[in-house]
Amino acid sequence: MRKFPLPQAVLLGLVAAVLVAATWPLWKGLRASREGGEPQAPEPAPGPLAGLVIVVDPGHGGWDPGAVVAGVKEKDLTLQVAHVLKEILEARGARVVLTRTDDTHYSRTVREDLRQRVALVGEHQADLFLSLHANQDRCHCWGAQTFYQKGGSAEGKALAISIQNRLRERTDTTRYALPGDYFVLRTTEVPAVIVEMGFLSNAAERGRMQQPEYQRTIAEAIADGVVDYREYISRHPGTAPENPADPGEASPRS
Ligand SMILES: [Zn+2]
Repeated sequence: MRKFPLPQAVLLGLVAAVLVAATWPLWKGLRASREGGEPQAPEPAPGPLAGLVIVVDPGHGGWDPGAVVAGVKEKDLTLQVAHVLKEILEARGARVVLTRTDDTHYSRTVREDLRQRVALVGEHQADLFLSLHANQDRCHCWGAQTFYQKGGSAEGKALAISIQNRLRERTDTTRYALPGDYFVLRTTEVPAVIVEMGFLSNAAERGRMQQPEYQRTIAEAIADGVVDYREYISRHPGTAPENPADPGEASPRS
């Protein structure tokens, strides 16, 4: 029988073809990764607040307790609600930066302390600033209330009214969002509000504000308000809604 030895080049070619065929999945992967370029950043969490960066500021802290009534400190309540609010906002897709995560302060002077909290907005290129507080007064007052900067942006007012509407829906407050002149609102370059979560001077409200369930209700109302705000501003950029019509004198409670 006559032999027909294959030329060396053809033999080498065959070996190469077999090798390529055997390792094809690897080649495909290499090509895909070249086409993909740099590794992709993780997908933003889905949800109505995806893409938003929000600075949440638990008011006071460290040497500054804020209002103190019957041993209950404003700085503790604001921190507790801030942690819950962070969790809820993140579940809806936002990235949240807390100005403090424990019982600390930035400075011994109030002004410098506030200045450093506001500076986090620029550092993190945040879109919104939410500052949490609790009220104290000699009146028999109660009810959560949101403030925006007097003479400030329409967006700030829209944010405050959106949050206040949800607080009115979810809690017993009959208050409206109001303009005020506050350092953290005046000096923040993005829409900013102060949420006074209730009156520590009101015994019943002081009791509620210490309950985790009520703290979550407040936080959910604020988060719902932020979602409403985003939707409103996307449809009506540069404008703000008005407070709902006053239904009349609220019956006083204490
Ligand atoms: Zn305060």
